[in-house]
Amino acid sequence: MPLFKSAGKMHLRGINDTKHLTSEKEVLTLPDQYAKKVYVPLVDPGKGTPITLKAKVGDEVKVGTLLGTRMTLGKEFPVYSPVSGKIVGEVMMLHSGLMRSVKHFEIENDFKYENIKVTEPVSLESSSEEIIKAMHELGLVGFGGAGFPTFLKYQGVEGIDTVVINGVECEPFLTTDYNAMIKESQDLFLGASLMKKASNASRVLICFKKNKVKVYQALKDEIKNYPGLELVLVSDVYPMGWEKLLVQTVTKRTYEKLPSEAHVIVNNAQTAIELGKSSKTGFITSKKMLTVSGEGLKENANVIVPIGCKVSQIIDYLGGYVIDDGVVLMGGPMCSRGLMNDECAVLPCNDAITVLRRLVRRTQTCLRCGACSDHCPANLQPVEIKIAFEHKDIDRMMALKPTSCIGCGLCSYVCPSHIEVNDFVKKAKNMVNMENAKRAAMEKNKQAALNGGNK
Ligand code: SF4
Ligand code: SF4
Repeated sequence: MPLFKSAGKMHLRGINDTKHLTSEKEVLTLPDQYAKKVYVPLVDPGKGTPITLKAKVGDEVKVGTLLGTRMTLGKEFPVYSPVSGKIVGEVMMLHSGLMRSVKHFEIENDFKYENIKVTEPVSLESSSEEIIKAMHELGLVGFGGAGFPTFLKYQGVEGIDTVVINGVECEPFLTTDYNAMIKESQDLFLGASLMKKASNASRVLICFKKNKVKVYQALKDEIKNYPGLELVLVSDVYPMGWEKLLVQTVTKRTYEKLPSEAHVIVNNAQTAIELGKSSKTGFITSKKMLTVSGEGLKENANVIVPIGCKVSQIIDYLGGYVIDDGVVLMGGPMCSRGLMNDECAVLPCNDAITVLRRLVRRTQTCLRCGACSDHCPANLQPVEIKIAFEHKDIDRMMALKPTSCIGCGLCSYVCPSHIEVNDFVKKAKNMVNMENAKRAAMEKNKQAALNGGNK
């Protein structure tokens, strides 16, 4: 049994103690020979739709050369080359977010990392509009999610009084936020202060777990030089890094869909660090740190890699696999799905690769114990969603709102019958999304027919 538990959050005993595998180890840098080629997906990372190409095979590129643009919420957003070199081909490869094969640019890396300035540098003297423009032109996206453009959280949003910097990192195994917050505290404070200015907020709450003593020690003195910035220590429970729970915990406010409804913007700690770094130069980020760990690997470490390098190359660098029946996760064990192969590229939003032994556990009959519902932080009834999915009862599924699932995996984690309840919820969520799209299209056609008939 877990040490502590309460509705919607729990201390993950055992699995959470995996952070020591990398937290205090030297951060490695992937040697050049493991990143001779990098790969940039030519699709929107959220929707999977093709980007509008601005470059072609044969083009010479630098770090920051515009390869294409994608549209998010009606705004054009840049996709840049993460290395300098030459585009040598278009290849089909697995996309770790979409979990299907998509077209990628294959770029030969010349290792010069020549940079193009993609935006004018900004500082705390810059206006809110100038900082938001820089976030946009830098192509800054959230870390650890689906690559949502950061500037969209700020543009046209009014009434924000608090920015929450999420350094909670509650997924087991992951320690990149921990490392970056200790080693890059100056950029964290600068980025957080720029976010405060961009949003016109009066305060920034930099949040991390209270057991991260070294983070506290690294930040506690320096923060006094940054007006409006505060450190907030939160409990070591999962999923404290989920933004709704974090906002509720640190501001005592709730919201329905977006934190802005509670006058809050939430950004990951490493997003703030990247903004701090890039704001000084106008150059994009071409490399990032990943926690590469798990029992299936010869060596566990945090590794700085060029964006776009292959997962297989990073694993080769760490000595390869030590088990035959492993599962490779792009992320931590609670929220991520297993990759079909390791020939996929690191995306700007990736934060970890975890290799675990494939667990074959005999699934028992559902006991109707209600543990999955008791622990769901989104207040869903996972077991009821599972039953509705098995009966293909779409109306019941819609009523149970699987679309509110945050994919935290707690329902599967607590199930005494070892049922992968989360998988059923995911499938139900997809079915409901498809049904909603179908019903919206039918409604549109109906309205069009009615309007036509009224002419
Ligand atoms: S994965 Fe979804 S359904 Fe399961 S506990 Fe988390 S939010 Fe609830
Ligand atoms: S936790 Fe497992 S056994 Fe208990 S109700 Fe949920 S699905 Fe059934």
